[in-house]
This record gives sequence, C-alpha cells and structure tokens, in this order.
Amino acid sequence: MELNDLLRKYFNFTSFKPGQMETILSVLQGKDTLAMLSTGTGKSLCYQLPAYILPGQVVIVSPLLSLMQDQVEQMMRRGEKRVVALNSFLSPFEKREVLSRLEKYKFIFVSPEMLKMDHIVNRFQMTEISLFVVDEAHCISQWGYDFRPDYLTIGEVRAKLGNPLTLALTATATKEVRKDIKDSLRIQNCTEFIYSVDRPNIALAVEKVDDFKEKSERVLEIVREFQGPGIIYFSSKKMAEQMVSFLKGKNIGNIAAYHGGMDQENRILIQQQFIHNQLDIICATSAFGMGINKENIRLIIHYHMPLQLESYLQEIGRAGRDGKESIAVLLYSPGDEQLAFQLAESELPEEIQIDRLLSWLKSNPDYRSNFAEHENEISMVCGFTEIQWRIIHHFLDRIDFSINGWETEFINFKEFIAKRGSMKRKKIWQMRNWIETDTCRREMILNYFSETPKKKVDHCCDVCGIKYDKFFKPYDEKSLANSSFDWKNYLAEILLK
Ligand code: ADP
Ligand code: MG
Repeated sequence: MELNDLLRKYFNFTSFKPGQMETILSVLQGKDTLAMLSTGTGKSLCYQLPAYILPGQVVIVSPLLSLMQDQVEQMMRRGEKRVVALNSFLSPFEKREVLSRLEKYKFIFVSPEMLKMDHIVNRFQMTEISLFVVDEAHCISQWGYDFRPDYLTIGEVRAKLGNPLTLALTATATKEVRKDIKDSLRIQNCTEFIYSVDRPNIALAVEKVDDFKEKSERVLEIVREFQGPGIIYFSSKKMAEQMVSFLKGKNIGNIAAYHGGMDQENRILIQQQFIHNQLDIICATSAFGMGINKENIRLIIHYHMPLQLESYLQEIGRAGRDGKESIAVLLYSPGDEQLAFQLAESELPEEIQIDRLLSWLKSNPDYRSNFAEHENEISMVCGFTEIQWRIIHHFLDRIDFSINGWETEFINFKEFIAKRGSMKRKKIWQMRNWIETDTCRREMILNYFSETPKKKVDHCCDVCGIKYDKFFKPYDEKSLANSSFDWKNYLAEILLK
C-alpha cells in the first residue's frame, strides 16, 4: 500500500504536512532520525504511520503523564485499541497485567521514570521493538528548555534494548541542543530533518505596563475583547489562581487554573474540559499544554516572561494549530526579569547545600547506596526543594560510592551547576532583549534558531505593526451579549474613565 493510502485509511487525512513524509520514509528505510518540526505540525504521525508497516512494537518515551494520557485517548478515539501507557498512573495490578500482555500492544507509551526500573527494561528486552521514539527530545539536553534529568538515561536504556531504530522528535531545539540529543541517544549519524520553528499564523505582541495592577486590568480587557479559547501563562501558581478569582469576580466565566500543585486527576479533568470547549480560558503555569492537542486556541497571554525564547515559542505554539490567525500577547512590567532570575536560581542547588550534602554523606556511610529512600531526611538537612532534589538524585545515582575518592565528583558537580546557572541567566537576558527590541520580533526568534527569515507574514508583530481588531471576538459573541455580563460594573467603568 502507498503511504498516501495508509494516511487516508488510518488517519483520514488527504495529504502530508511538511516534514512528515520525509521523516516517515527515513524511518522506513531503517535510518535513525531526528526530526524538528514546529509545534502542531503533526509529529505523532511520524511514528504512528510507520507502526502500521513495521512488525513488532513501537515504544514511545514521553515526558508528561497528561501528555501520554491525551495521546492514548486520541488514538483510541481513532479506533486504535492496541495502545497503552505504562506509567505511575497504573495500579500495581494493572501494571502487572500490562506487562504480561506487552506483545499484544502495537503502541507502548512509557515514562522515563519507568525505564529506570530494571524489571521493566528486562521485560522490554523480550519484545520486538521495531521503533524507539523519543518525543519532546529536547528534554534530554541540559542546555535546552525543560531539561529532565530522567531523560538523560534514555541513551543507556536504548543500548540495553539493543539499539533499536530510533526517532527523536522535537519542535524547538537550537543547534547545541540537537547535538546533545544525538550524543545522548548515541545516534550521531542519524538523518536530520530540520524545519522552521516559525508559526506564521501567530501574531506576536509585547505590551508594556507600569505595574502588576495595570497588568491584571489589561488581562481583563484582553480576555473580554479577544477571541478565545486562550491560555494565560504565569510563572507562579499563586498568581494563576489569583487571576482566576479576579476574572471570575468580573464575570468572566468558563475559566480555571492549572498548575503542578494540583493533583493529577484534577489536572486531567481541567485539560479535558478545555479540549472539549467547556472551559474558555486557562490560567496556567508552564506545566500546562506540552503536546496538548487542541486545534482552535486563538489567544496566548504571558503574564510573566518565560525564562527563555524556547519556552516562549513552545507556549505560544499551542495556538493556531488549525492554521487560523491567532495572537500571542506578552505583558511586561519593569523588573519582571527579577522574578525570572529568582526562579532560575531556585531550581539549582546552592554551593552551600551541596557542601552540606557531602558532609552528611561522609558521616552517614550507610545511607550512601540507598540515599533515595532517605529523600525527606536529606532534603530537610540540606534544604532541597523538589526540583533541586531531582537534580541531586540524578547526580547521586551516577556516583559509585565503592570507589575511593568518590568525593571528587562533588567538585565536578559544583562546576556543572555553576555553568548551568550562568547559562540560565544568559537566556533570561536574551528573552529580555527580545522584549526590548525595536526590530522585527519574528526575525529575532528565527535568528536565535540560526534560521534566515524568508518572507514577511501578514500579521507579524507589534514592531512591524498588527491590527488588533482582527483578533477580536465577533460582535455577537462579545461579553455584551453574554447574559451573565456585569452591566452595572461595566457602565461604572466606562463612565468613570
Ligand atoms: P505535534 O506533536 O507536532 O505538536 P501532533 O502530532 O499532536 O502535533 O498533531 C497536531 C494535529 O495535527 C493533530 O490534530 C493531528 O491529527 C493533525 N495532523 C497530523 N498530521 C496531519 C495531516 N497530514 N493532515 C492533517 N492534519 C494532521
Ligand atoms: Mg507532539
């Protein structure tokens, strides 16, 4: 059967999107492949279609539980039953069941945490993996956006599985990050398909306001005026929740918060309600949206600046997947970068904490090999946050405490942390420069990814000039027509102006 026929038969699509065909052919020719296709291009198809031709199983490593769940559900809706997600969501019983029937599945989604367990890897060794997929592969790179220490060991797992044919997928990776992906997965000689990161149907705007009060007022205006559905991004969980209350108080309905502090079930519920248009606006931290597949998102607002351009691009990339015009508005007030710096700092352990850890391990030799069981105790002694612990955990995991002089590893680790800190600060400055620029914003992003801009897009950015009314709600949908609209407040507001 021709690829086009398979596309129609299994997915009901009539043509491939740019990059899909090339990536699929490369995989079918048995070549390890790295494909960078912009957000929303349809990277999932690049492994889903070959799966119908290749024998055996396709294993997909995916960084987020909610992302996995979403993918599995989508495939099931399409009628594919042989799909399963192997993650901490399963009860021990379910997990045993799935593992005992692993060969029955065509698509096995697995979290990197699961792949750290020997019995799972051993089980996979018994199956016939015809394609090993690493989705959101930029998570491998320590220099990239959204680094996940758990992702670093995927290369080792891949080797243990006998180096199966591999496909790495990402939307945003600089040259440096792409090199890290290839090195880490040990696919240096792979075929690469690098497509533009640009999303021409998303207009880019930055607005400067004086302070956070003005910012919240501006959010309210935008939410009232602009066509949804939309996502408002915050760096702080608390602010996201406060904004929900503020907007609800102004009679904006169909709105909810989403952040890492909420329990898993609630998060999935909110995500599903948003996908099914029961919610119009989500106030979220960056935990929301990676790989989320909702086609009609029209609006992204950044209440806080992202910590780097890659994150910005990923976050705005959730808009306009249906190809229709959408807009991203970043609100900046003087000093916003201070919060960004603080956040970046807090993610990394401080030198004094690392020193304390070293002396604790020296005086508690019994705990060295089973440090993971003492997470709470160690975190308390050294003052590690959960994010810091993840990095520490990964570092300790790699130390062979039986070797004399294991302590020297701590010197390298401190150097690594210092380097990572300065890299993060540099990225924040780049983001800040982008906010302050008086040249085309799109062009600046493309340059950052070593691309040369091709042709001008219609609704480019505020520097090139965009007409906002293009993105407004159609008149009858405006809150004026909404029965729950707060007339009294509205009139008071305009009369007092
Ligand atoms: P990505 O992972 O690149 O962000 P997804 O794989 O989640 O994107 O796909 C985004 C959307 O594009 C999905 O709704 C998918 O069904 C759709 N899609 C994928 N390939 C095609 C195609 N060839 N034609 C039309 N729609 C497609
Ligand atoms: Mg994806």
